[in-house]
Amino acid sequence: MDFTLSEEQLMIQQAAKDFAQNELLSGVIERDDAQKFPSELVRKMGELGFMGMMVDEKYGGSGLGTLSYVLAMEELSKIDASASVMVSVNNSLVCWGLETYGTEEQKQKYLTRLASGEIIGAFCLSEPEAGSDATSQKTTAIDKGDHYILNGTKNWITNGNQAEVYLVIAQTDREKGHHGINALIVEKNMEGFDIGPKENKLGIRGSDTHSLMFNDVKVPKKNRIGDDGFGFKFAMKTLAGGRIGIAAQALGIAAGAYELALKYSKERKAFGTEIANHQVIAFKLADMHTKIQAARHLVYQAACDKDAGNDYTLSGAMAKLYASEVAMETAVEAVQIHGGNGYVKDYHVERLMRDAKITQIYEGTSEIQKIVISRSILKD
Ligand SMILES: Cc1cc2nc3c(=O)[nH]c(=O)nc-3n(C[C@H](O)[C@H](O)[C@H](O)COP(=O)(O)OP(=O)(O)OC[C@H]3O[C@@H](n4cnc5c(N)ncnc54)[C@H](O)[C@@H]3O)c2cc1C
Repeated sequence: MDFTLSEEQLMIQQAAKDFAQNELLSGVIERDDAQKFPSELVRKMGELGFMGMMVDEKYGGSGLGTLSYVLAMEELSKIDASASVMVSVNNSLVCWGLETYGTEEQKQKYLTRLASGEIIGAFCLSEPEAGSDATSQKTTAIDKGDHYILNGTKNWITNGNQAEVYLVIAQTDREKGHHGINALIVEKNMEGFDIGPKENKLGIRGSDTHSLMFNDVKVPKKNRIGDDGFGFKFAMKTLAGGRIGIAAQALGIAAGAYELALKYSKERKAFGTEIANHQVIAFKLADMHTKIQAARHLVYQAACDKDAGNDYTLSGAMAKLYASEVAMETAVEAVQIHGGNGYVKDYHVERLMRDAKITQIYEGTSEIQKIVISRSILKD
């Protein structure tokens, strides 16, 4: 595999790095503390083309590949994983889903505004009783001829209150099981749609996570994505790509924590020398560096598979599983290397440690990734 980056990819990586350093870094601790959604920064990311990176330029996107997207995700996540999760949901779940499976009318109406960052979107699959087991949808979309009537509750929805457009998965025909599920485009101002309070989270506290309630919401049939019954497949296909974005987020958190630990270990002295000169610390850094590079290769591989039109279910799941485990492990060790300073907010690593945890949970837990991987390797 040749992962030599093109001029364009290097430029995008640098642009994301500059934006993270110059715009995201100042205020990241305060936003985390106050659980503040960075509306102004999201607007700027839209202007820079980060909100619709893989979308065709004719729909307002940047027309780039998945590898460019993961390069940007890594850089943004080194500094602010709350900002990067918004980027990830908007890019790989909402925009990709609409561009790949939406009608021309849906693309003109919604995708163009989502891809340019004028508005942001949310992807609504999880429910109080349907997380890993996403087939157990309790939300219903009853077919009423030219429209559906939507009822139910969605949980843990990223961009929940800030979004304008929601891709909602719901059961239309229970007898058909997961073949009776549909994906509907719901607008924020539709009657009967309510948003619950913001979740008070361990990490990615700047991101906007809410439950959503639908009470007899009338959704026009032209807002259905794909044929009748395509909703579950839509969700699974979309999440398969989404995982590559979250894998890149995990990689960024790991790399960010490592870079801080490396710098600190060369500055902090104990027993008359920089702590990096103690072999135990140097070996921790060696392990971190090695695992991050291995995770990076898995993430790039999955992105290249997607760009080449290969099946990326397995490579995406492996990338997410491994990168998220490395993110957690690396962030914990980065706190350890910082000693007491690692335990306070000013040094950033405690936030990265809290942020790392979510990458093992959303868009399929680590256990679910192992199910995907084992099924894939055992099927032949
Ligand atoms: C901050 C945050 C943001 C999120 N954003 C979104 C979003 O934008 N849209 C959305 O739809 N969802 C979102 N989610 C939901 C997320 O995807 C789910 O929380 C996740 O899929 C796990 O589902 P669950 O919480 O119901 O856990 P459960 O499914 O109840 O799992 C509990 C535990 O059991 C394990 N488990 C479950 N089934 C199996 C099995 N068959 N074999 C082995 N172990 C198993 C799990 O791995 C986990 O450890 C978000 C969640 C959080 C916390």
